[in-house]
Amino acid sequence: MSWEIMRTETGPCECGEGTETFTFEMDDWNRTRSSTEIHCPKCREKKKRQIEAEQAHEKKRDEQLQQAQQLATERYLPQWLALFAGMTKKAAWERYTGGSGYPALGTFYQHVKHSGSLSQYMEWCLTNDLERSLCVLEVEDQEIDTLLQERARLWKPTSGPM
Ligand SMILES: [Zn+2]
Repeated sequence: MSWEIMRTETGPCECGEGTETFTFEMDDWNRTRSSTEIHCPKCREKKKRQIEAEQAHEKKRDEQLQQAQQLATERYLPQWLALFAGMTKKAAWERYTGGSGYPALGTFYQHVKHSGSLSQYMEWCLTNDLERSLCVLEVEDQEIDTLLQERARLWKPTSGPM
């Protein structure tokens, strides 16, 4: 697969003290990609810091989710599994989804099958759809809520003007 440069454009960088070159490329399959090379130490440094800040945000969000998942498992897993214990798969699905929404009943059956058992799948659901699970459990956990809210606030990386 080879990329061919279709167009390049050089113009002033953001701060105006240097330049940046925009390159637009296309391959044999008419797929396109573009890139910008910054020839200005000041703007390059700024861009680098921006990327680092985004990565830090991302990392923080992962940590918050892991922490929330861990708390939920520690505090509610037995209670959560007890909720579905002895239920048929269909009854468990109704309890979990309220009888509609995702996953559809057929998908739910498949997930249970792939997980090995209903309780294994429900355990996965607890941490992977925390908000819904806590809602189904009818518990309000201030600590977990706070983590999830902070995480939601960090959803958009800071991207002020460059
Ligand atoms: Zn610049």
